[in-house]
Amino acid sequence: MKTIVYNGMLVTMNENMDMYPAGYVAMEGTKVTETGSMEQLRQRYGDVFSTEEGGEAGIVWEDACGGIIMPGMVNTHCHMSMVPFRGLGDDCKDRLRVFLLPMEEKAMDRELAVLAARYGICELLLAGITTVMDMYYYAGDIAGVMDTAGIRGIAGETVMDQATCDAKTPLEAMDKGLEAMEKYRDNPRVSVCLSPHGTTTCSREYLEQIYRKDREYHVPFTLHTAEMDYEMFYLKETYGLGAVEYLDRIGVLGESTLAAHAIQVSPGEIEVLKKRGASVAHCIGSNTKAAKGVAPVKRMLEAGVPVGLGSDGPASGNTLDLFTQMRFCANFHKNELRDRSAFPARDIVAMATRWGATALGLHHVTGSLEAGKEADLVVVETDSANMFPVYDPYAALVYSAQAANVKTVYVAGRCLVKDKKLTEMDLGQVRGALAEKMRRTAFRDQGLVKF
Ligand SMILES: [Zn+2]
Repeated sequence: MKTIVYNGMLVTMNENMDMYPAGYVAMEGTKVTETGSMEQLRQRYGDVFSTEEGGEAGIVWEDACGGIIMPGMVNTHCHMSMVPFRGLGDDCKDRLRVFLLPMEEKAMDRELAVLAARYGICELLLAGITTVMDMYYYAGDIAGVMDTAGIRGIAGETVMDQATCDAKTPLEAMDKGLEAMEKYRDNPRVSVCLSPHGTTTCSREYLEQIYRKDREYHVPFTLHTAEMDYEMFYLKETYGLGAVEYLDRIGVLGESTLAAHAIQVSPGEIEVLKKRGASVAHCIGSNTKAAKGVAPVKRMLEAGVPVGLGSDGPASGNTLDLFTQMRFCANFHKNELRDRSAFPARDIVAMATRWGATALGLHHVTGSLEAGKEADLVVVETDSANMFPVYDPYAALVYSAQAANVKTVYVAGRCLVKDKKLTEMDLGQVRGALAEKMRRTAFRDQGLVKF
């Protein structure tokens, strides 16, 4: 069955950044088979798509109604299961120790992680995100939720030098993660990786072992890097090194390495990132809300380091959508650089799509609309008040659009959002199940549940 999405401003994000003011995308099975202008569509298929009958048998015609057709977005750093912690102690100076860690210890279990991940996936899909790099616990279960929900994703099993909600020791976490990695080894859409928590929260021997395992399974080796003051202080005091230098020194910086945050990175370290082929997940919303600073992304991009955008967890960045991140990215970097022309909208859309896919090692699979790649496609409507007029679709996506403008979403050719509604899940039911579970946990005992 062929589906053709037509009559939209087509932003392909392919290598040439081809853009069609009026264009179409054809999909068959899980793949994109053609892209082009409306003129080319007419030449190939005649005017049949505009007839009431829908034209040629076997083709599903989907009118984008003049909206923006773009590749599905790629969220390169997320902790979906932390949805219950969204908005908790947002303005508290020591929020992590006062709110998050105690609540995680008291309330988090497999059921809550799974129900919250399902809710997170609904939020991601409704915001036009078709690929997510998640990092939390119970990765095997989270991968199962991704698989059923239809999103493309990598579920990271967090490993750290202390007991967590799903493992008493780092070795137990690694065993669990490896079992899930094996289970999803041949899955075309979902995979699992081992994710060290951070450069100083996971000891050197585990970092080395995990790096080797992740490479063996061709999945990202991703960890919080150069994010925290205590992390930088410890590495400087102990080894006289920055975080990227440390990862390089112990031999875990390579093409599969995805450094999340990478805020406190020196110019020399950017060169090292480039030399090793490593990537960065830039979480500007989370970083600036926590007053951690702005990563030197301009320099990274100039050096040729692939940089994708990440929402971080809902406890840190609140919303999981990338429209918010694209806007923050433009605003903070332009302001930092005192240069209105820095970070043009097209580059920021590339970070949310093509470069994000590269950062996850999925550039051959997703991140652009072109024949042969997976059909991960989004239509952003331009009928809403905030979307008129559109002179430049890239600028409209970065400066005007919101997640609420996402009308249609396909992942691997499967329509998961239509007319702004999930097609296979019921958001009310997913939220109800999560709220009901929260009422059975410490969220109620602590008086936090008021719903
Ligand atoms: Zn994070």
